[in-house]
Amino acid sequence: MNRLWSALARELEPYVPGEQPRVAGLVKLNTNESPLPPSPRVAPAVAAACEDLRLYPDPDATELRRALAAYHCLAPEQTFVGNGSDEVLAHAFVALLKRDAPLLFPDVTYSFYPVWARLYGVDSAVAPLDAAMRVCVADYRRPAGAIVLANPNAPTGIALPRTEIAALLDDHPDIPVVVDEAYVDFGGETAVPLIASHPNLLIVRTMSKSRALAGLRVGYALGDAGLIEALRRVKDSFNSYPLGRPAQAGAIASLADETYFQASRARVIGWREGMADGLRALGFEVLPSAANFVFARHPERDGAALAAALRQRAVLVRHFRGPRVAPYLRISVGGEDDVARLLEAMAEIVGA
Ligand code: PMP
Repeated sequence: MNRLWSALARELEPYVPGEQPRVAGLVKLNTNESPLPPSPRVAPAVAAACEDLRLYPDPDATELRRALAAYHCLAPEQTFVGNGSDEVLAHAFVALLKRDAPLLFPDVTYSFYPVWARLYGVDSAVAPLDAAMRVCVADYRRPAGAIVLANPNAPTGIALPRTEIAALLDDHPDIPVVVDEAYVDFGGETAVPLIASHPNLLIVRTMSKSRALAGLRVGYALGDAGLIEALRRVKDSFNSYPLGRPAQAGAIASLADETYFQASRARVIGWREGMADGLRALGFEVLPSAANFVFARHPERDGAALAAALRQRAVLVRHFRGPRVAPYLRISVGGEDDVARLLEAMAEIVGA
């Protein structure tokens, strides 16, 4: 704390991202990065884009937005891009989610939502997950200014079917509903087909997970052109050039390689199921995941103690504090070797 800080800076409770260790040889299963590299088409496209680094990038990312529109069968005016989906979500808080009535989100969800709510002075309220850690759309049938949900939810990994998202939208035709589909490519059902009939739906996506581009920082939103226009107004009041030339070019190259994308996500899903089975065999309760991570707890072990014991064995996983989540570990899906090392370390720890 410093007397030169603004009152707001003093009051913030910043989000804490997972550790990015500099130590080699760790099994890194703590930030839901892809165990696979991005499409081989990305690096050459990024390199080519580096020839023009002297020049500012296209502030509207026209070519990338055109590619996203074509990919999702929408119009370019229904797309928006930002420096990671975190930036897109932050803009959505300002552009759409700040209202007189409270913003609703689950008690257990992406822990950045309450951080943005605080940063931007957005009044919020939580709807608890049910006993099985599921989102119940019926719990959102109450006065609200807006709703934000991650689907699949994080850190549970549990997905709602599209019919449930449609029911939620039908319950709330007059308020903005943001669906964060960061993990949808690993087994969720996207709400994109609902955009045509629901002008209040904004879908936020990222290229960090299923496209293995966390280091490039590309996120995007899809929705009615009216909602997108609000995001654009906020972006142009914040940073005209959120995506550099390499990021725009790399993202376009990734979208063009559908075969690689489909093969990668299928492999990650396969590894996830192997990892979940292995954990269950060691006595863990593993929530049904449609993401590139699992949320698991051991009936007799403390979550924080397990995470610390894994770290001693050079395996990094994520542990969150908080009454409902503290018993759990969030473990990102790794490749075959990483999963084997995780299960070996875990077997040692739980004595199986
Ligand atoms: N939404 C959810 C639910 C996430 O878990 C993450 C990753 N921390 C993000 C959005 C942000 O991802 P990125 O900024 O890398 O696009």
